[in-house]
Amino acid sequence: MAVRVVFIGGLGRSGTTLLERLLGEVPGVAPLGEVVHLWERGIGAGEPCGCGEPFTACAFWRRVGIRAFGGWSPGLADRVLTLRHRVDRTRHIPALAAHRHKVGLSGYTRAYSRVYEAAAQVTSCRVVVDSSKHASLAFCLNTSPVVDLSVVHVVRDPRAVAYSWRRRVTRPENGRPMTRWRPFRTAVHWVVQNLAFELLARRGGTVIRVRYEDLMADPGAVLGTLLARLGLGGHAGGTALAFMRPGVAELSMAHTCAGNPMRFTAGSLALSRDDSWCRHLSRRHRWLVTALAWPLMVQYGYRLRDQRGPEEIASRWVTAGVAAQECR
Ligand SMILES: [Zn+2]
Repeated sequence: MAVRVVFIGGLGRSGTTLLERLLGEVPGVAPLGEVVHLWERGIGAGEPCGCGEPFTACAFWRRVGIRAFGGWSPGLADRVLTLRHRVDRTRHIPALAAHRHKVGLSGYTRAYSRVYEAAAQVTSCRVVVDSSKHASLAFCLNTSPVVDLSVVHVVRDPRAVAYSWRRRVTRPENGRPMTRWRPFRTAVHWVVQNLAFELLARRGGTVIRVRYEDLMADPGAVLGTLLARLGLGGHAGGTALAFMRPGVAELSMAHTCAGNPMRFTAGSLALSRDDSWCRHLSRRHRWLVTALAWPLMVQYGYRLRDQRGPEEIASRWVTAGVAAQECR
């Protein structure tokens, strides 16, 4: 029987790690982090699991590795990374969508399905979550007969994403800075990744779109609807969401192999929308990003411009007693 996988897709800095952490608190769901980086950062570099232990020392991942491959090894990581380079690239998406599969694709997806199957067995969970994000990997996995794939496509206002990619953030795994992109590059990647997930849906993939802004406005309702659409029986107020109360989620430790620094968070997490881009992203960069991304922004319901400043709008919404839906 195919292993049930929820793949969280979208451009980085869109709230994918947050959504994985929330889904991972639902009974019967096991969050694995960004499995696409397991081979290099986990096996290769020994970066820490979400539990804080080095990947190779984490008891959970050791059990998964033994069950899946008889144990992790540098040779295994090298083989998967070689295949990844050959088949899992954004530029191969048109060929994948046209079912022109490259040699090595089945071996590549088999490595992932073994990880998923082993993790499901070790955790006794019926669903595993992979927050690898990349559309190209979702296309690859969608070809596997032993992976029952559902993609949750996370979308966030590209101006907010562009601001986030400009920020200086240190990776807790190794103390080095996270990759930074200029707004132009972020906007291009935002368009390409989101178009790719639209294409996957048109090619028959199961793709459910979630806007970061909607999730933050009403986390319980959005998660409840998402769980119901995933067939995981969620509805607001049900036991599936017992870890949530208004504006707060109680997170337990999660054995995530890679991802945003939020994967290390445990305890109470305030669910509040990060709108710092409104104050710090320059007008020039807002227009640049909007000029590149506007067709999809319109499709996803983002307003393109507003003459007033964000502070004025925010105060108007607060005065009206209405949660701010947009900030421009
Ligand atoms: Zn761990």
